[in-house]
Amino acid sequence: MTTPSTDTSARRLLIVGPPGAGKGTQAVRIAEELSIPAISTGDIFRANVSGETELGVLAKSFMDSGEYVPDSVTNDMVRSRLAEDDAASGFLLDGYPRTLDQVEALDGMLSELETSLDAVLLLVVETEEVVGRLVERGKEQGRSDDTEETIRKRLDVYAEQTAPLIDVYEKRGLVRRVDGMASIDEVTAALRGALAGR
Ligand code: ADP
Repeated sequence: MTTPSTDTSARRLLIVGPPGAGKGTQAVRIAEELSIPAISTGDIFRANVSGETELGVLAKSFMDSGEYVPDSVTNDMVRSRLAEDDAASGFLLDGYPRTLDQVEALDGMLSELETSLDAVLLLVVETEEVVGRLVERGKEQGRSDDTEETIRKRLDVYAEQTAPLIDVYEKRGLVRRVDGMASIDEVTAALRGALAGR
């Protein structure tokens, strides 16, 4: 008897939640377990800012003020990243899509690749708690967008532009909610459970 080669596990995933929800930390863990790349648009932008590339120079001013980088720029960047070989059998996108226009762009990219999303992992957290986490991260990592003023701005932008995406994915039956206020290990376990349909 041979084992069927069809992989039925969810491998085309998004992780969403407000700034400071712990998306990046969890994305890396879950992606490693599933042997898929964790693709963080924030990390790609930050690498470009450090490398002083043309994209980095453009992105920096938006990032430092807590605004989103224009959709056209972000969409092109994600399109080329998803076309890379390592994303062919799955991916976990962190920080994208963040606007309704980006949802539409992602739908287009996935249909070109003749595939679609399996699940949207939503980290649910309390706003005041995440402000505290981000202020701490700013001190530890020196991220220039982790000052209290920019953090508040990013939370407002999230509520206005990104929270509405949850409804869109909810209507498609893709959203799996996980409590993001638990410990890092507990959140990872809960995400694992959510992916296994528990
Ligand atoms: P956080 O989720 O903690 O706010 P990220 O590292 O995901 O941080 O993103 C940092 C910044 O990078 C955002 O505030 C924004 O300026 C830019 N950025 C990241 N992803 C996107 C996106 N999908 N669209 C537009 N801008 C983005």
